[in-house]
Formats: sequence, C-alpha cells, structure tokens
Amino acid sequence: MSEVPTLSGSDATAASLREFEARARAFLEEHVPRRGDVVVTDTMSAEVVAAEQELQKKIYDAGFAAITQPKEHGGQGLGEAESMIWGTLSAEYAVPRMLIAISHGMCGPIINLLGTPEQKAKYLPDLWRADTLFAQIFSEPGAGSDVAGLQTRAERVDGGWLMNGQKVWTSNAQYCDYGVIVARTNPDVPKHQGITMFIINLRDPAVTIRPLRVATGERPFNEIFIDNLFIPDSDRIGEVDRGWDAAVAMLRFERISIGTSSTKSTGPQSFEKLAEAAEAAGLLQDPAARAALVEVYVMEQGTDLLAVRMREEVEAGIELGPRGSIAKLAGASANFRLNEILSDIAGLSLVSWDGPGMAYPPLTKAFTGAPSSWTAGGTIEIQLGIVGERVLGLEKDPSVDRGVPFRDIRRSA
Ligand SMILES: Cc1cc2nc3c(=O)[nH]c(=O)nc-3n(C[C@H](O)[C@H](O)[C@H](O)COP(=O)(O)OP(=O)(O)OC[C@H]3O[C@@H](n4cnc5c(N)ncnc54)[C@H](O)[C@@H]3O)c2cc1C
Repeated sequence: MSEVPTLSGSDATAASLREFEARARAFLEEHVPRRGDVVVTDTMSAEVVAAEQELQKKIYDAGFAAITQPKEHGGQGLGEAESMIWGTLSAEYAVPRMLIAISHGMCGPIINLLGTPEQKAKYLPDLWRADTLFAQIFSEPGAGSDVAGLQTRAERVDGGWLMNGQKVWTSNAQYCDYGVIVARTNPDVPKHQGITMFIINLRDPAVTIRPLRVATGERPFNEIFIDNLFIPDSDRIGEVDRGWDAAVAMLRFERISIGTSSTKSTGPQSFEKLAEAAEAAGLLQDPAARAALVEVYVMEQGTDLLAVRMREEVEAGIELGPRGSIAKLAGASANFRLNEILSDIAGLSLVSWDGPGMAYPPLTKAFTGAPSSWTAGGTIEIQLGIVGERVLGLEKDPSVDRGVPFRDIRRSA
C-alpha cells in the first residue's frame, strides 16, 4: 500500500483516502439532492431546521461531520485530507450550510479550543451531530462594530454568575438550544479587559428571544433579553475577564469559515441565474447587459478561487489571521455590485410581479437580502480597517477610550 503525501493531522494512506472518497460520493448520491436540482434556501424556518437537522444527523452518523475533530469528543478523528475530500465533493450537493455555520464554524471550535474536558464531553458530541444548535451572542444595541463596548453584565454569585442585559442580531437563536455569549464581568478595567465568555441555555425562562423581521419578510435574527439568568461557573469558557481574547479567537474561526466556505453560487445572483434572467428579459444581445454578465462571471471566479486558496492554506496549517477579512471583503463588495447588475437586468420585475400572495420572487428576495452581507460578520468598513491596519500595517485609527476603565467611558445609554 503506497503512502500519499498527507496534510496536517492525517495519517491516511492512498487506499484509505480512495475508500473515504468512494463512501462520501455514494452517500451524497443516495441521501442529498444536487444543489442545482433544488432551491437552496438561506432562510431558516421551523420546517427547514427540522429537515436539515435530520439530514445533518445522517451525515454525522455516516462519518462525514466533524471530520477533523478528536474522537473522544464526538469527532471522526480523521485528517485534513479527508476533510478536503468531503468539502470538495459536498460543494455540489445541498448539504446543510446555514444551519450549522455558527454551531460548527464558531461555537464548536471555541469550545474545543478553550473548553474544559467536562464542557467538551457535555456539549460537543450533540453539537457535531446537530442534536443541539448553538448561537453566537455578541452584538448589543450599542455594541456591534465595537463589541468590546458591550454592557450585558455577569456578576459573581454563589456557585456561578447572574447575567442581565440585552443582545441583538443573534442569527437563528429562535431555533437554537445554547449560545456562546460574552458579558462584562469587571467594569473597573479598560473595556477589552473585563469581559468573560459563557455558554448559556437559551431555553431557560430567564431568556426571552424575540425574532426580528427584515425587508425580505423573514426573521433571520433576534433580540434577546436576559433577566437574572443563573449560569453555573462550569459553563464559563476560558478565564475570568479574558473573554475578549476568546471572542477574537471565535471571530477568527468565523472569518476562516466565511473565507473558505464559498462554493460556486447557484443563487439568483449567480452568473447562471442572471444570464437566465437576461435571456428572459430579451437582453442577451444588449451590449451593457453582456458586459455586466462578463463582470459577474469574473467576480464569481475571483471569489471562488480566493476561497479555494484560503481553504488550501488552512488545510496546510497556514494561519490566515486577519487575512481572513479579505475574503469577507471580496464577497461583500461583489454582492454590492451584483445587486446593481441584478436591478439593471431584472428592472421593474423586482418590485412588481404577477401571481397570488405576497411572497417575494427569488430575484426580489435576493435583492432585498443582499445588503445584510455588507454588515453580517463585521461591516465592510470594519473589515477595511482590519486589512489596512493588521494586514497592510497602516497606522491605527485614533481611539478615545484606550486605557480608560469601562465605567468611565462616556456613552449614550
Ligand atoms: C445577517 C446578519 C446576521 C448577524 N448575526 C449575528 C449573530 O449571529 N450574532 C451576533 O452577535 N451578531 C450578529 N450580527 C450583528 C453584526 O455583527 C453587527 O450588525 C455588525 O457588527 C455591525 O454592528 P451594528 O449593527 O451595531 O452597526 P454599528 O457598529 O453601529 O455600525 C454602523 C455603521 O458605522 C460604521 N462604523 C462603525 N464603527 C466604525 C469604525 N471604527 N470605522 C469606520 N466605520 C465604522 C459601520 O461600518 C456601519 O456602517 C448579524 C448581522 C447581520 C446583518
């Protein structure tokens, strides 16, 4: 049996990789529709969540989720080579993405990195199998870009902590069981130094979750009110007052997840669908529409290749660090331009259509939904700042609150 060059963490042989690939291919063919054959929705609803959870359990049980995670905490204990094979093959299929993006892309990795053995045993196996879903609970009404300015507080009580405060924009929290949250535990030190990370139970009666409706008519995120929530100290992640480092580590996982997860788009703003829309509008011979379609194709190739490159770097064990923001910036900027092109091609059909009911047609939904990508995961301006300061080494923005104890920082609320 000949050995193949292996990627980090993998002790696979050529034969074992071939066998893994054949099993993955057979599983996908049998259990998952191809992406082009179904409408892939980014929108969660109770029905979508239930169906995707079932599919994700099958994927896990067949050995294709949490591929590189340690076996003792519910992972498959395989290497990056198997992960890469699964990633490449599954990109063509409608495997759950949004459902597990935060659980698997951010919360699982941070528990794996900083969690205690007890936390890993308690939470990770169910999380990887999607028996439980996790939310990322950072943003507040007055602390989005400046998350370190958060005001939700957790105070020490016997056996744990008492949490009070308000969070907002928490994606899919209405369907989640747990959340990874950051709260202020020490207001007497500068803002980055007095924050601690916890796992909270979103089904606790002390937690109220209110879905927020957006322009597409959907409810993708929530506001969360926390009123005297008791958290056992065993659900604290990492050290007391070191939650900012934990949050940065978690956001780094998010950037890696966003940067490497791009797959060829089959959505309404993809080259394929925009070309169909142009044909339907009789614009295929129109020079401006043709030039715009070429632009779409080039942008699509660019973001896809960037994602491939970043995936390969991660798989080769190269730290992406702040460079992960480049992929997020590229995707969000492309989305901005794609929306302009979409409105040129689709014209009035974006705002008026035939047919019963008020449900938006896919093009209208894509158009109204696109702006959220300029904000989610850190706004375009914030990503520009990260790339400028931390990738290009430009001078840092001036800061008015550096070194000032949190309780002395002037704020409006
Ligand atoms: C679809 C979606 C899903 C989300 N999911 C989650 C989630 O699951 N969990 C979670 O915790 N949060 C989530 N968020 C929240 C998201 O992280 C915040 O919306 C984002 O960080 C911006 O914060 P903000 O909305 O408070 O805007 P603000 O921070 O108030 O920003 C307002 C404007 O000011 C600009 N600005 C702010 N600071 C600077 C600066 N220093 N330099 C230049 N410009 C600046 C911003 O770019 C923006 O244009 C989600 C958001 C969206 C849209």
